[in-house]
Amino acid sequence: MAALDGLPPLREVIQRHGLDAKKALGQNFLLDLNITQKVARTAGDLTDATVFEVGPGPGGLTRALLALGAKKVIAVERDSRCLPALAEIADHYPGRLEVIEGDALKTDFEALAPQGPVKIVANLPYNVGTQLLLNWLMPRQWPPFWQSLTLMFQKEVGERIVAEANDDHYGRLGVICGWRTEAYMAFDLSPQAFTPPPKVTSTVVHLTPRAEPIQCDLPKLEKLTQAAFGQRRKMLRASLKPLGGEALLNRADIDSSRRAETLTVEEFCRIANLL
Ligand code: SAM
Repeated sequence: MAALDGLPPLREVIQRHGLDAKKALGQNFLLDLNITQKVARTAGDLTDATVFEVGPGPGGLTRALLALGAKKVIAVERDSRCLPALAEIADHYPGRLEVIEGDALKTDFEALAPQGPVKIVANLPYNVGTQLLLNWLMPRQWPPFWQSLTLMFQKEVGERIVAEANDDHYGRLGVICGWRTEAYMAFDLSPQAFTPPPKVTSTVVHLTPRAEPIQCDLPKLEKLTQAAFGQRRKMLRASLKPLGGEALLNRADIDSSRRAETLTVEEFCRIANLL
């Protein structure tokens, strides 16, 4: 793609701007522009969309998003060392790339969202990825301000996001994600795809919002899943004792000898609504 977008190869960009990867910032860069294009394509048609990207780094994914025609990319990057490299991309695509220097965890994406479709696409820093996902699943309004989330996670986290009842990886994250979204793992990337390589395999997860999730109060659902999966090997009558135990489960018409990992999202919502 270097030839395709006319910008210099990423290795050269990294060297010229002294962007040695910092572990504390979760910096595992994607330098192969075929791979960044594959991630960007997973988000579907971008020509009409504003894309929020977290952690553009030297800009590999940013370039793919712009080359694939994203109407606008708004990228939030914490590492100020990356800003000059990103400014070069912004110059190359006038008016289409806005870079915000800051912490994505403290960024109000909902307030920044313009009119029209918004997609979030990111190779997330692993130390804050799950929290960012949970933030995007709890906007002030539903349906949310975003049309889709296309996010890179450690594979183990991806498996927890898409897990359903009776899956080994099913837990709190699977319940919250399953309640509000439809999610699937698009493809895996081996550690060698990144510079420097992380220790584990990564996966791209694509999530779209359910138009009408089951009516449920999120704090109650969280309290419930915390209690249920906090002691996942126990029967629900024991793990949910502090919340009402046997009596609560009877009211929800759920066998109290079942274990947390067997309950569907609908059953979790049914119990949460009785709390
Ligand atoms: N998008 C680039 C790529 O695919 O090569 C870099 C991805 S790297 C896994 C994660 C990026 O997120 C780094 O550029 C890092 O500086 C940035 N980052 C880390 N923590 C952040 C935070 N809290 N807010 C915004 N960016 C952050």
